[in-house]
Amino acid sequence: MDSATESRLRETLAERLKLVDARIEAACQRSGRKRSEVTLVAVTKTIAAEIAGLLPSLGVLDLGESRPQELWRKSALLPKQVRWHQVGHLQRNKIEATLPLAHLIHSVDSIRLLKSLDEEAGKQNRKVEVLLEINVSGEVNKHGFRPDENAEFMKSIFELKNVHVTGLMTMAALEADPEQCRPTFVELRRLRDQWTKQMPPGHHLTRLSMGMTNDFEVAIEEGATLVRLGTVLFEGLSETQ
Ligand SMILES: *Cc1c(COP(=O)(O)O)cnc(C)c1O
Repeated sequence: MDSATESRLRETLAERLKLVDARIEAACQRSGRKRSEVTLVAVTKTIAAEIAGLLPSLGVLDLGESRPQELWRKSALLPKQVRWHQVGHLQRNKIEATLPLAHLIHSVDSIRLLKSLDEEAGKQNRKVEVLLEINVSGEVNKHGFRPDENAEFMKSIFELKNVHVTGLMTMAALEADPEQCRPTFVELRRLRDQWTKQMPPGHHLTRLSMGMTNDFEVAIEEGATLVRLGTVLFEGLSETQ
């Protein structure tokens, strides 16, 4: 990338970040929350590593990828201060390489995965923080635990040695009107409030990862602590790859 392209991109990103931040701030104000309670995770799956590499200098250190291979690739190219979030489905054969790189795994969607993560983290002598992905909207083609599986996953959380559950994640259905997503977010928060009392020591449900480009303001109003944003930041930049 030549320096003219780079400075043009940097300017575009800075403008978009400013607009997004104002929208996050406004959603916080509407719901009586502090801006500091909400972390923006920039999901870089549609942009080149070169472009993603401009984000840390613009103050965005939390970056997310949906495919583990892409997280490995970009994390090798970007500054070490980046906190990488694995936001998409994690296959068990990708755990070994992902663990040393990921700050937070948002998408734990089966007991098998939870157990495998615990075992591998033990082998690597690490602790790992995860969120449980909950399929609140109940769509069949979606990953995540069903809310009524809580007794099963709660039981396996008691057996974990190296994995710390620190919250819940969900994806709302894609709706033309983001208001239609509100019930999904309300329900995730309600499940959090209900399950939080049953968590074993060392685990908690403080984090709520919910809200994407289409619905992040509603998600913040309903308690999101992590919003995962791609399109609103990076739309139209992918052809620069
Ligand atoms: C791609 C992706 C996002 C970002 O979605 P946008 O609608 O582009 O903001 C968030 N979460 C997950 C799990 C994703 O795969």
